[in-house]
Amino acid sequence: MKIRNRPKPLPLQKLDAAIPRLSPQFPKLPEMNRDAKKQGSGYSGETKVDYHLETLASRYTILDDVYLHTNGKNFQIDSAVVTNHGIFIVDTKNYNGTITFDTILNQLTRSDGGIESGYEYPITQVENHKFLLQNWLQQRNLSHIPIYYFVAIADPATIIQVNGNKEEIANIVAHAARIPKMIMDKDQEFAQAGKTKLKNYQIGNAILRECGTFDIDIVRKYGITRNDLLPGVFCPACGFRGMKRLHGGWICRKCRHKSYNAHWRDLDNYLLLFGSITNTECMWLLGLTSRYTATRILQKSGLIYLKEHKCWIRKKGIY
Ligand SMILES: [Zn+2]
Repeated sequence: MKIRNRPKPLPLQKLDAAIPRLSPQFPKLPEMNRDAKKQGSGYSGETKVDYHLETLASRYTILDDVYLHTNGKNFQIDSAVVTNHGIFIVDTKNYNGTITFDTILNQLTRSDGGIESGYEYPITQVENHKFLLQNWLQQRNLSHIPIYYFVAIADPATIIQVNGNKEEIANIVAHAARIPKMIMDKDQEFAQAGKTKLKNYQIGNAILRECGTFDIDIVRKYGITRNDLLPGVFCPACGFRGMKRLHGGWICRKCRHKSYNAHWRDLDNYLLLFGSITNTECMWLLGLTSRYTATRILQKSGLIYLKEHKCWIRKKGIY
């Protein structure tokens, strides 16, 4: 059974919320665009791997995006499969072109035909995760559970090459479609070696109970202030910014699209970035001239008013 699903990562949600609203002159914009592209590609790779791992859901317990804390450190595992005899960490890599694992120098290079670039060695990364998960289990008297790991290559067109020990890599790294079978085979191996049968659902739940959510304060990271943002409601049909308030709804000045709730997404995105909104900020953001309209919109959006801070926040637990 799958007991934890993968949401779009919060830092990526925030980048997608901020980028369209930033002035084109904002100095960190190119860097933000690069980061959003990279994170988007990572997320898309992970969902591809999820699709394949789902075939194991009827046998084992699956958790996407495991985020745990141990010994003062947070660590994130792309996917964890708790089988009858062990926990399998699956780390996803999404590369195009040809990747080469060098088992002597412990390095990974990728070539897309012309340019060659180096990356952090995925095996070292996943070994590290194994070590941290081992610590985490130990602290909960679960150190008897064996941990194994795989690196899933999300794109079936990626060519995997090895310099050095081919077998070492072939035991760990594979295209995503092959990973479920590799997990089942390894679980079988554990069974034959006489490992204790685990209550995989209970172990999965113990992990789930302590899972947090990875987040980055991107406002601070890129130095965004409210002055760097451009105001106006985005048209959901054509993307134009600056819809006009008309008869309790919105009309696009460009494509004439009408909408009653186009402002929801703008408010949502603003709250995602800043956590709260004042009446004045709402007037500015949505391009309203009436304080009264702003208050009514904020009330109707299901937000909570904090009297002492004179601002509105989301109800807890929505995000
Ligand atoms: Zn429009």
